Amino acid sequence: MLLWILGLVLAAIIAAALILVVTPIRRNLISKPLFAWFKTVMPPMSETEQEAIAAGDTWHEANLFQGRPQWQQFLQNPKPTLTPEEQDFLDNEVERFCEMLDEWQIVHKDYDFPESAWNYLKTAGFLGLHVPKKYGGKNFSALASSTVVQKIATKSLSAAVSVMVPNSLGPAELILHYGTEDQKNKYLHLLAKGLAMPCFALTAPDAGSDATSITDSGEICYGSWDGKDQVLGIKLNFSKRYITLAPIANLIGLAVKLSDPQQLLGTKTELGITVVLLENITAGVEIGARHYPLNQAFFNGPIRGRNVFVPLDNIIGGQKMIGHGWKMLVECLASGRGISLPALSTALGKHCYRVTGAYAKLRQQFKVSIGNFEGVATAMARIAGHTYMLEATRLLTLSAIDQKFKPSVITAISKYHMTEMSRVVINDAMDVHGGRGIMMGPRNYLATSYEGVPISITVEGANILTRCLMIFGQGAIRCHPYVLRELNAVKESDPQRALAEFDAALFKHICYALANFSKLKVHSLSGAHFCEAPEHAGWKRYYQWLSFFSIALACSADLGMLVLGGNLKRKENLSARLGDVLSYLYIASAVLKYNYDYKNDAADYKLTKWSLDFCLYKIQESFDYFYLNLDSFMGKIISCYISPPWRNFRMPSDKLAIEISKDMMQPSLFRERLTSHCVVSKSADDPVARVELAWLEMVRVTPLIHKLDEYVRAEQIDKNLRMFHRIQAALDKGFITNDEAAALNHFETLRLDAIQVDEFTEAQLKGLEK
Ligand SMILES: Cc1cc2nc3c(=O)[nH]c(=O)nc-3n(C[C@H](O)[C@H](O)[C@H](O)COP(=O)(O)OP(=O)(O)OC[C@H]3O[C@@H](n4cnc5c(N)ncnc54)[C@H](O)[C@@H]3O)c2cc1C
Repeated sequence: MLLWILGLVLAAIIAAALILVVTPIRRNLISKPLFAWFKTVMPPMSETEQEAIAAGDTWHEANLFQGRPQWQQFLQNPKPTLTPEEQDFLDNEVERFCEMLDEWQIVHKDYDFPESAWNYLKTAGFLGLHVPKKYGGKNFSALASSTVVQKIATKSLSAAVSVMVPNSLGPAELILHYGTEDQKNKYLHLLAKGLAMPCFALTAPDAGSDATSITDSGEICYGSWDGKDQVLGIKLNFSKRYITLAPIANLIGLAVKLSDPQQLLGTKTELGITVVLLENITAGVEIGARHYPLNQAFFNGPIRGRNVFVPLDNIIGGQKMIGHGWKMLVECLASGRGISLPALSTALGKHCYRVTGAYAKLRQQFKVSIGNFEGVATAMARIAGHTYMLEATRLLTLSAIDQKFKPSVITAISKYHMTEMSRVVINDAMDVHGGRGIMMGPRNYLATSYEGVPISITVEGANILTRCLMIFGQGAIRCHPYVLRELNAVKESDPQRALAEFDAALFKHICYALANFSKLKVHSLSGAHFCEAPEHAGWKRYYQWLSFFSIALACSADLGMLVLGGNLKRKENLSARLGDVLSYLYIASAVLKYNYDYKNDAADYKLTKWSLDFCLYKIQESFDYFYLNLDSFMGKIISCYISPPWRNFRMPSDKLAIEISKDMMQPSLFRERLTSHCVVSKSADDPVARVELAWLEMVRVTPLIHKLDEYVRAEQIDKNLRMFHRIQAALDKGFITNDEAAALNHFETLRLDAIQVDEFTEAQLKGLEK
């Protein structure tokens, strides 16, 4: 009997192997029906979707997605480093520019920064950070331009946005990558020197997230230009809104849908999205008034145009780029997303780390620095952990961009997660500051950032959409080794070739999936102890668990696609959760790389641990909710097959949070490194300096404060006396010296000033009086 059963099993295995290995059998029995099914379940991909997916490259995230992170190779990526010229620019020009900025005056009085600051910005080269030197720019790395924006943002968000926009997606970037030589020679010098002020106009009232649905039009026709008639060109009609810098721009990059109804260029009448350069003085262009984005002072507004005529030479890249506008935008956005908004988010993290650490020591309630209360410490540790993840992720993504990758998936991950992390950080910082964060005025160093966060969340791909559609949607297709080939087979017009293509990809796909499912089982049974991991300062187990989850992601992605097919795209929450897994794997990798590059000092150790525990917990949670909501029998079976070990992870412990908050309240080299490139003014009336100086003084006089406290406890000084009187009493009784009394008085003056908030008269609030 046993022999019979063994024989049957053997025969079944041989039959399955034959079906899989012998191509004609496999093709007819498996691939053909599956291909027919595949064609019905995969939603048709529009040309613009195809272009978006084809844009950019993949990098470390592809290995994470496929269940094979190459840790050794990953750690060998260069440590991001500024050149001496870039460092010099940050230490001098950026410092000088920041000194010209008074955020309260900019945001609540002038709605602009001073003309001298604008002039300096232009002449010192801030607007051409990426433009090559031969066109008059700085030719800086992505790391440098991110750091410039980040540093300015710690002083003024509005100023940072005004620097960031000309250096990110816009005319300069588009001309640099796609422009004709004539366009480069004509415009890049002007842009780099600030003689032309750019803006980029895509969004329209009916086309926000769904930007390809713009109805702004360009029609090929003859018109008059530069005194000549019968010039072949484009008649533009458009209405754009939300355009940053539009109110002061004189060079507009305009996205329109181009058509050629008279077939003047060829036989096609619909030519697709095209980007056109337009000067503000062109007849028919109307620059609207200003929008007012959440109390920020950077320029933003609508632009409209009726029957505006420009010659064909105004198309960025010339005639050959007609219809490629969407590809150009998506490609530039692929890199840009990894630079600007992550820089703003990291700036916010660093700023909050510094000021909250200092304020939480300075501010005492119940006779204790508030940072010592467990609840406050938990919020502070969240600020620290998120700031650590922000800086690590910023540097890792910039390292990919500076190695000349155009990584569309990791830049989407960075954009979404880093702006969301900055939202967590500022909320916690506000809570820790209590009323001090709420009362508006020149002393408040949090309120403008708090108001500004939703802007970062919304621009360059609003966050909900980025999470739900882009990270996994694009990631699954770009990072999966076979899915794109399978999708491309559907487009193949020759049916035989299509089936052969599909079959080849499918066979490899099946082998890949079987290998991943087997690996997953082995590693789940062995507690991931056999997963690949480098020997890096005691972090081996974390690498192993990340490798394990990477394999689990590869399996879950295949499972999701098998169970839901094209519906996975519509099941946004499911794909978002797998996107979250990929994202936290990426963020955890960034943390390990940061730790590797900076050699793991004691404070690094705590924050690396906090961040990795947080990421593993988030990965576990994302998987849990993915399987909970994957409403399918097969999903349930497979979830049982792979699930057990990932219920082990917990959020970082209270003990760790308390230790981290203590570190935040002390000056240290680590604090200076983590918050590097924060503007720290020495001026006593700067809002941050007020707190920073008082805090440093507090650290210096802490032994004296303890000495006074002892006399109070011993009832030798009256406990009901206020601080100045206590100091006087201690001096009168000879408990402290004159110098000590002076130091304590100085500190108390600074402390009282630092916890102060602003007051306004009725007339001032109504704007009647300055
Ligand atoms: C301050 C500021 C500056 C800007 N600067 C510029 C600029 O210089 N040039 C320019 O062209 N544009 C600019 N924009 C426009 C910006 O790109 C858009 O605001 C953005 O694309 C979102 O469009 P929307 O605001 O119309 O939101 P909507 O598209 O109406 O979206 C509303 C919500 O729905 C969500 N959503 C939409 N579709 C989906 C989906 N399929 N799945 C899940 N969620 C979805 C979004 O995530 C969002 O949360 C700017 C906007 C702001 C606020």
